Amino acid sequence: MLGIDGKTAVVTGAGQGIGRDIALLLAENGADAAAVDMNEAGAAETAALARAKGREAAAFRCDVGSSEDVERCVREILAWRAEVHFLVNNAGIARDNLLLRMSAAEWESVLRVNLTGTFNFTKALSRPMIKSRFGRIVNISSVIGVFGNAGQANYAASKAGVIGFTKAVAKELAARNVLVNAVAPGFIETAMTAALPEERREWMRQQIPLGRFGSGRDVAAVVLFLLSDLASYVTG
Ligand code: NAP
Repeated sequence: MLGIDGKTAVVTGAGQGIGRDIALLLAENGADAAAVDMNEAGAAETAALARAKGREAAAFRCDVGSSEDVERCVREILAWRAEVHFLVNNAGIARDNLLLRMSAAEWESVLRVNLTGTFNFTKALSRPMIKSRFGRIVNISSVIGVFGNAGQANYAASKAGVIGFTKAVAKELAARNVLVNAVAPGFIETAMTAALPEERREWMRQQIPLGRFGSGRDVAAVVLFLLSDLASYVTG
């Protein structure tokens, strides 16, 4: 019913956290996964965990912010698998600071990974997807990109950018049966959020109707839906 079985997914930032949970939930539902990450050891561990679920999986080291590195990585992935059906642009970083203290490097590094990285991988993989008249792309944005947050101007701008990018590309690719969507998770328990002070975490918990933080699996479930045949009328 999901239509995931036997298909191939590329998940960026799959070396840990939400990306790993996405790769593993896809494997549980019958997809093979290319686990892409800067952290080669983490990606290799994710691929091993996916293989333990009975699917094929491989790890690829790549800096999503570099278009040359992404082109090289996509060539390697396409040598491993002739067709890629799913792309999940999940790699992301945060470098928080108040605007007046934010350095150009903090601004640029976050835009480079979160927004340019999404552009790089989408551009590189949409060509073969267009050719085969099938593709599903899910970009991981954030509630911060919708509501904003003090101390995260760079992160908020990058994640709002991901939403605009998603809506534009969805319109370009819909006629070729390549569907493009974004997910904007709230506070998810991963390494990215573990470092926040307890006081801040408690304040955030109070904003959440369910009164608890989400898990990577919660995000992965939404991604699975958007990649599946159940969402074949959902784009942008
Ligand atoms: P995470 O635990 O920090 O994992 C992110 C992964 O991306 C890491 O393995 C990291 O590798 C990798 N990465 C960083 N820069 C990269 C690059 N240039 N090229 C390739 N891989 C790179 O973060 P997470 O919490 O799972 O977040 C995953 C995504 O969800 C991000 O886009 C994040 O913005 C988004 N998100 C998270 C939350 C949350 O509350 N956690 C909420 C909303 C949205 P290294 O370890 O080597 O840096």
